[in-house]
Amino acid sequence: MLEVPTSLDRSRGDIHAAGNPHFSGGPANAIIVARHLADALSRLEPKSREVFQANAQRFIAELNTRLPQWEAKLAPYKGQTIVGYHNAWPYFANRFGLVIDLFLEPKPGIPPTPAHLVEVISAMRERKAKVIIAGPLLGPSHRRDHRRPHQRNRGGRQPFPRRNQGN
Ligand SMILES: [Zn+2]
Repeated sequence: MLEVPTSLDRSRGDIHAAGNPHFSGGPANAIIVARHLADALSRLEPKSREVFQANAQRFIAELNTRLPQWEAKLAPYKGQTIVGYHNAWPYFANRFGLVIDLFLEPKPGIPPTPAHLVEVISAMRERKAKVIIAGPLLGPSHRRDHRRPHQRNRGGRQPFPRRNQGN
């Protein structure tokens, strides 16, 4: 577990108290999770054990095929600063050599404030950061998806990769 705090107090925000829980952002961790899920499901329903294990193996094989492709795609960006909406990316950043240590949330779980955003914008300019990432459940895209259909897709934000690009 990354970012396990050495001391706990509310000033740090209160949702990463046991360390950063977003471990599934690291592809190697997804392999561990898949194995644990297959084992747990196999214990719960032993007659389907072969199916659970085969599915896990297929997932792991596909991940191992794609990992070098993702590494190659991200290699030119090693050392680049990327801004996260939420501090959900340390495992991903470590795996691909990215620097994701600026966040729109001032602390995990605390919504962005204008004063904090001014600081982030200034740091982004200084560090030539041009990309902001947000997970589907933790960020502006989550809120947008819950608006009424006629309100969706307004504004200039462009998701990357774009939804029609596959992947
Ligand atoms: Zn979190």
